[in-house]
Amino acid sequence: MLFRPDQNALRLKSGAHRLCMPYPSVDQFVSAVKQVVLANKKWIPPPGRGTLYIRPILFGSGPILGSLPVPEYTFTVFACPVGRFHQDNAGLNLKIEDKFRRAFPSGTGGVKSITNYSPVWITLAEAKAQGFSDVLFLDAATGKNVEELFASNVFIVKGNVVSTPEISGTILPGVTRKSIIELTRDFGYKVEERVVPVEDLLNAEEVFCTGTAAIVTTIASVTFKETKTEFKTGDKTLAAKLFATLTDIQMGRVEDKKGWTVELTDATTPGLKL
Ligand SMILES: *Cc1c(COP(=O)(O)O)cnc(C)c1O
Repeated sequence: MLFRPDQNALRLKSGAHRLCMPYPSVDQFVSAVKQVVLANKKWIPPPGRGTLYIRPILFGSGPILGSLPVPEYTFTVFACPVGRFHQDNAGLNLKIEDKFRRAFPSGTGGVKSITNYSPVWITLAEAKAQGFSDVLFLDAATGKNVEELFASNVFIVKGNVVSTPEISGTILPGVTRKSIIELTRDFGYKVEERVVPVEDLLNAEEVFCTGTAAIVTTIASVTFKETKTEFKTGDKTLAAKLFATLTDIQMGRVEDKKGWTVELTDATTPGLKL
């Protein structure tokens, strides 16, 4: 089962456009992913034991000295069996990063580009050395609002309202984020995509993060300027319910009424039979 490959293809396309790179069509992208999965089917973990993580990569290369777009581009699809990304079932302990910023207005924070990680790797390394699981970045313009984690999006829950930072160019538009917004609304919650001040996060009842690898992961605590705030964790959280619902759809355990999954069999993809 593939999860929303078309959405990932469209995101690669808009990111490549922003970085002046040529890109594969949605069909080329999805077909390449299918071929890689079928060619590696023996590496797909058994149900409940993990997933086959797929990472499509577009890179440029060539004999060029100037700081210009290169003459040659490669699109490749990498796959690797993985277990759960965040091992910590008790929930993550985050540190709000108060010195370095991940993205700035009109920059490339909204592009899934490798150039967004190395400038802030220092913050994650420091947080991990201090015993934290991940970092939470603040917006570069004011330093007052939360944006996202190192590689996942953040949501806060208070009563019947779920809030998440809006897509404004500085956060990565996660496919999981988009799917979780839809499922949360289906559960009857009001979802607000808006500016989320740090105070709102610290006053929330529940906090969780989303991403292809993180799926939906509960956040147990957030530390801001040495003060630690704890949040609800466990089976009764909205995060636990969303995790169960999303993985049921992804694994084909329930009917996919949204059309998010693509089932891959030799029969449904005859041209790709290997
Ligand atoms: C990949 C990523 C996400 C999550 O996006 P998904 O499409 O849900 O996997 C969020 N933030 C950053 C910075 C990311 O790199």
